[in-house]
Amino acid sequence: MGKPTGFLEKTRVLPKNEDSKSRLKHYNEFVEKTTPEFVSEQASRCMDCGVPFCHNGCPLGNIIPEFNDAVYRQKWDEAYKILSATNNFPEFTGRICPAPCEQSCVLGINQPAIAIEFIEKNIVEEAFKRGFVKPRLPKSRTGKKVAVIGSGPSGLACADQLNSAGHSVTVFERAQEAGGLLRFGIPDFKLEKSVVQRRVEVMKEGGIEFKLGVNVGVDVTAEELLKDFDAIALCVGSTVPRDIPIPGRELKGVHFAMDFLSQQNTRNAGKTENRNHKGELVEEIFATGKKVIVVGGGDTGSDCVGTSNRHGALSVMQIELLAKPPVGRSEQTPWPQWPMMLRTSSSHEEGCDRRWALFTKEFVGDDNGNLTGIKVAEMGWSDPEPGKKPAWEVIEGTEQVLPCDLALLAVGFLHPQFEGLLKNLGVTLTDRGNVSDVKYKTNADKVFVAGDARRGQSLVVWAISEGRECAYYVDEFLMGTSNLEKRDEGLHAVVEKY
Ligand SMILES: Cc1cc2nc3c(=O)[nH]c(=O)nc-3n(C[C@H](O)[C@H](O)[C@H](O)COP(=O)(O)OP(=O)(O)OC[C@H]3O[C@@H](n4cnc5c(N)ncnc54)[C@H](O)[C@@H]3O)c2cc1C
Ligand code: SF4
Repeated sequence: MGKPTGFLEKTRVLPKNEDSKSRLKHYNEFVEKTTPEFVSEQASRCMDCGVPFCHNGCPLGNIIPEFNDAVYRQKWDEAYKILSATNNFPEFTGRICPAPCEQSCVLGINQPAIAIEFIEKNIVEEAFKRGFVKPRLPKSRTGKKVAVIGSGPSGLACADQLNSAGHSVTVFERAQEAGGLLRFGIPDFKLEKSVVQRRVEVMKEGGIEFKLGVNVGVDVTAEELLKDFDAIALCVGSTVPRDIPIPGRELKGVHFAMDFLSQQNTRNAGKTENRNHKGELVEEIFATGKKVIVVGGGDTGSDCVGTSNRHGALSVMQIELLAKPPVGRSEQTPWPQWPMMLRTSSSHEEGCDRRWALFTKEFVGDDNGNLTGIKVAEMGWSDPEPGKKPAWEVIEGTEQVLPCDLALLAVGFLHPQFEGLLKNLGVTLTDRGNVSDVKYKTNADKVFVAGDARRGQSLVVWAISEGRECAYYVDEFLMGTSNLEKRDEGLHAVVEKY
């Protein structure tokens, strides 16, 4: 343990964000720089608990008390070794993870939790600065070839693990750049793309081959893949967006959030063509001078808020179907569970009118087919009986039209795209349309699956965890046994509940 009295002497402090007026003028990350001493002071608060609930709260099983101790002693090489043993990409999770570990931190019962995510980000940034991040070159090659389809966090983690086990890995990606939603969904102001590219370069140095701009199922057939590779890992994400099929959906000015977000990320990268994340040419969408309504109260919606404000929208509103959650942890989700509570992102702080319990009834337009408003009605939510979902009803007489000339639909994703690759491989699906599996293996011979394509739309930390688990089972399939790190099944089942 670092400093036994650390948590009594210091409270949780994080570096300041650049002032919102000034950060709205650019798309870069805006958290102010810090010093190793500052990070060490934060790590000194860790109590090295006998039962570290933080560790259980993390889908990767990150060994948090140990790296906190190393950071307190400013042993950055040791801290990075501990962290990278369970997390291939702490530079991603250290920036954009909702940090379930912090919600389970024991200190969080009666004090602000340890700043685990902040510490994680600084361990990996110090490691890059000090040259500790090296390509993971295997001692020898097995002669086995694996194709990883998709270069999102699950595909990258799967590829990194399999390469370190000695297999020759080729990552196929239909977009022009690697990273999946890290590159084309999550805005630069949360995760700069140089951070993604930096990791891809390390992986290339380690021997992983990236084939970009290759739509598998179209440019390369399933048969060719099966002939050329000993195993295939499908890490294709959950890319079919949920639509809102109500009157007026066809009006000019109603768009899917991902078309809007991926365009801006592409623009930031200096590309002049407007392509969506599937590489398709799409109409240019700007929020400049518009009355924007983001439909959907989640993370994707919040990213649309931040991007719209950077475009210079006239007004930005975010509407949500569910009732407003409680401001703090409620009795329904006691510690150490993931709390259902109001979350205010940095994008919300930059300016947004947030409304809850609104049912979207119709997109309203003018004679020229342009969107002019959204007709909504208030919803009444009843408290759920134990074990049951809350009931709701639209309240009569509460209809109103909210003025709007750009509506961004951010109501989630349904499942992976079945037409093409998945259909050609003959994989079976769950009743939700995700790829079904037993221990990451699909029904198709030598075909595995991981990430959002398997578990449904989720988080980056889960995608990395899935990629690692999948790699273990691919390695076992190829070699009969595997030395790759694997999470404890019992523990995984507990974490999975949150
Ligand atoms: C806008 C947005 C913001 C988000 N913000 C956060 C956040 O802040 N924190 C967080 O933890 N999570 C966030 N998420 C969720 C997170 O990004 C995903 O859960 C995660 O990226 C899933 O990883 P994946 O590897 O399974 O899939 P993806 O990241 O979707 O990657 C799948 C890849 O497969 C490729 N692909 C698909 N089919 C083919 C094919 N046939 N041939 C070749 N390539 C193919 C796709 O082009 C894509 O690059 C966000 C999601 C969105 C949409
Ligand atoms: S639960 Fe919190 S205080 Fe305890 S070991 Fe984990 S990070 Fe440290």
